[in-house]
Amino acid sequence: MSKHVYSFAEGDGQNKKLLGGKGANLCEMTQIGINVPPGFVITTEACLEYLDGDGLPDSLMDEVREEIEQLEKATGKTFGKGPDPLLVSVRSGSALSMPGMMDTVLNLGLNEDTLAGLIEQTGDERFAYDAYRRFIQLFGKVALGIDDVYFDEHFDAVKQQAGVKADVSLEAEHLKEISELFLDVVRQQAGRDFPSDVIEQLQLAVEAVFRSWMGKRAVDYRREFNITPDLANGTAVNICTMVFGNKGNDCATGVGFTRNPGTGENEMFGEYLTNAQGEDVVAGIRTPKPIVDLGDEMPEQYKQLVELRNTLETHYKEVQDYEFTIEKGTLYCLQTRNGKMNAAATVKTSVEMFGEKLLTRNEALLRVPPELLEQLLHPTLDPNNDARVVAQGLPASPGAASGKCVFDADLAEKLGNAGEQIILVREETRPEDIHGFFAAQGILTSRGGKTSHAAVVARGMGKPCVAGAEGIVVDVAARLARVGERTIHEGDVITLDGGTGEVYLGAIPTIPAHFSDELAELLGWADETANLKVMANADTPDAAKRASEYGAMGIGLCRTERMFNATDRLPIVIDMILANSEEDRKAALDRLLPIQRDDFVKVFTVMAPNPVTVRLLDPPMHEFLPTEHDLLEQIENLEVYRKIVRGRQAAIATLDHAVDLPEALQELSGEHVNDALAHKERMLRKVRELEEVNPMLGHRGVRIGITYPEIYEMQIQAILEAAMQCAENGVDVRPEIMVPQVITLQEITHVRRAADEIVARLEEESGKKVAFKFGTMIETVRACTRAWHLAGVAEFFSFGTNDLTQATFSFSREDAENKFLPMYNEMGVLQDNPFEVLDLKGVGKLIKMAVQGGREQREDLKIGICGEQGGHPDSIQFCHDVGLNYVSCSGPRVPVARLAAAQANLRSQVTN
Ligand code: PEP
Ligand code: MG
Repeated sequence: MSKHVYSFAEGDGQNKKLLGGKGANLCEMTQIGINVPPGFVITTEACLEYLDGDGLPDSLMDEVREEIEQLEKATGKTFGKGPDPLLVSVRSGSALSMPGMMDTVLNLGLNEDTLAGLIEQTGDERFAYDAYRRFIQLFGKVALGIDDVYFDEHFDAVKQQAGVKADVSLEAEHLKEISELFLDVVRQQAGRDFPSDVIEQLQLAVEAVFRSWMGKRAVDYRREFNITPDLANGTAVNICTMVFGNKGNDCATGVGFTRNPGTGENEMFGEYLTNAQGEDVVAGIRTPKPIVDLGDEMPEQYKQLVELRNTLETHYKEVQDYEFTIEKGTLYCLQTRNGKMNAAATVKTSVEMFGEKLLTRNEALLRVPPELLEQLLHPTLDPNNDARVVAQGLPASPGAASGKCVFDADLAEKLGNAGEQIILVREETRPEDIHGFFAAQGILTSRGGKTSHAAVVARGMGKPCVAGAEGIVVDVAARLARVGERTIHEGDVITLDGGTGEVYLGAIPTIPAHFSDELAELLGWADETANLKVMANADTPDAAKRASEYGAMGIGLCRTERMFNATDRLPIVIDMILANSEEDRKAALDRLLPIQRDDFVKVFTVMAPNPVTVRLLDPPMHEFLPTEHDLLEQIENLEVYRKIVRGRQAAIATLDHAVDLPEALQELSGEHVNDALAHKERMLRKVRELEEVNPMLGHRGVRIGITYPEIYEMQIQAILEAAMQCAENGVDVRPEIMVPQVITLQEITHVRRAADEIVARLEEESGKKVAFKFGTMIETVRACTRAWHLAGVAEFFSFGTNDLTQATFSFSREDAENKFLPMYNEMGVLQDNPFEVLDLKGVGKLIKMAVQGGREQREDLKIGICGEQGGHPDSIQFCHDVGLNYVSCSGPRVPVARLAAAQANLRSQVTN
């Protein structure tokens, strides 16, 4: 016969699965000498047996009776009878905390006899009836399923009759009347008398608490927070002697944190009420006092409370959130659990608890959830705002910002440069909107997912972005957006929270990010602990600078196409694309070369002496051109304007004197319009020529590099010349040239050969050596299967898991995220979004294969990851486990990744 019940003095404080978190802690506290009221725990196993079959396990109530006898002995009180009756609380508690999700009954053990005993023993009729009416209602609700409204209507009626507003003003006689009315409610609603047999009360309460494990609230909570049966299965029931904080002015009840959970400060923190029950503190009926006031009010008990707090922290080596009651001058601890804190407090306490030798450095590192750090790295909305959410999108890039809505990038740039705070609002963004990103405080799109262009670029820049807010209909032509009945005009101020995806009307104050000394210290430890290096994906000197402030140890991915998009370059890039001969293309490239070189010099200098991996041009060329639709519209407008110009000329000719046209109109001459039209028509022809059915699977990456070799040659030359220039300036640079979209050895051999020729030429011209590494992205399935061969030429691999995930799943990222992925996640067809969390079973398997192949060929092959998943803690654990050398992620994710990399190493040491 298995044991289902453990007294607090015997239960194993480490066995939260069996005894629940609360029960285990009550046992532990009892056993280390903290003053816990005597009690016992019924196990989660008993709960599962009850839920499985038809009734409580056979011997359970016998065990309970025995424990009750022990309680009677320990307290000198008697259960269900006598002048000093024993009352107990019956509380739920599973292995993981599920606050408020399951049921609790207090004051159990009251009936007509014990009520009389309680009155006699305390001499306080009011107190006794108050306890009784609370018990009847709570028991009625929890064990007999009677809705609160039936009780509340009587309670309110008596209060009204008595002419009192606050519960505490009710007299004993009122509470007595209420108790009697409540007993009637039970009779009517449950069709039975309120049980006066206290063992029956106990049995019904235990069964009800067991059932509450499967209650809707609890089931929904477990689903929401992914609490699976291996984490928590069934609830335990804690039966504990009641102690009362409401027996007079030498009584009190309160809750405390062993440190300040808002700041992490090592100080007494909490609230209490004198002459009150625990639920009064939580319910907010009376305003509790700060815990330090207890020092004046009950100095002796306060001293004991400080001791209690010190004992809890020294024992648990973790900030505790505890509940206490003082009954007639005696302090009891009723509960303790690990305290939930915000990010700043978690970091500060980690660093300080290491300093106080409460934690080892590794424990201090493991204690901080990496994702929590996001809170510290971006501005957040002032929580004291009362603004209303007008639209909800995806939290695509964290941070908060307010500004005037602007519906196109040109105007955003103009206003932004004039010093205005701007939010760029678009249906979706394209590379040619990039100047609008630079000018804006935040980006809002009505379409697209978390890996849409807007999301990826905003994250790279560390700007907040809400993507795919589908409730918003953007009408650029009318310069407005509609959200339901509401219209947002250009210039109206809105606020974005990129961490939640919420959009608000009006400006909400933000709290700036704060990279505290403690965070810097913790991350310093992380860097010493991790095996993986953490690089950043950064494309501009500014982004590189920010990334290195976040602690990036180099740049793992510099997407050169982003450099092409700035307003001063795009026209040259377009000339290059429009070129119909190699000669014309080279002429455009000659103009681009110095611009790229200057960019590289700046980025290398910021990052020196860390490596910078520059990826050669990747996207299909049409991405740099306007869409066919836009061009057709522009051409149509220009044609209309040409007619107007002709009409004006004809009209002027009818005059008998000359007229001076304003300067602007002179500039917009027929000739100018003709040229503009010819240029647009050329673009249109090119756009049509470049059109592909599946551009992302088409003419992009190294395929462009091979068909138009002069483009890659220009880029390689710019990289190498920049490296030479840096070396001349005394800057220690480590450039790495990376080829995208590779599928065969021949492709990289081809590019390598071109690079070697350029190096030879440059070295000969300058008489100086230039060092660089040459490698490839691994982002096609074929590259994974041919890794051994590719590593013959490539000195490093970088897994482009954005494309590799698309290729492995045969998903187009944008379509998947916009159409079916959310539903797949909801239905559990796919657990996670594979574009955020690396798919270990599929993509992970390919990565492992490629790592193995690559290192078989080249033992010291440097391998990293630069897809979006590279900043996700679970993916980082995998990257550590398969032996990658680095992860690369957007700048603001770098601190998260540094901590995750350290934890990955510590966890794998434990596993091994
Ligand atoms: C990738 O494919 O993972 C990658 C980093 O490249 P991009 O996102 O630019 O295609
Ligand atoms: Mg890619």
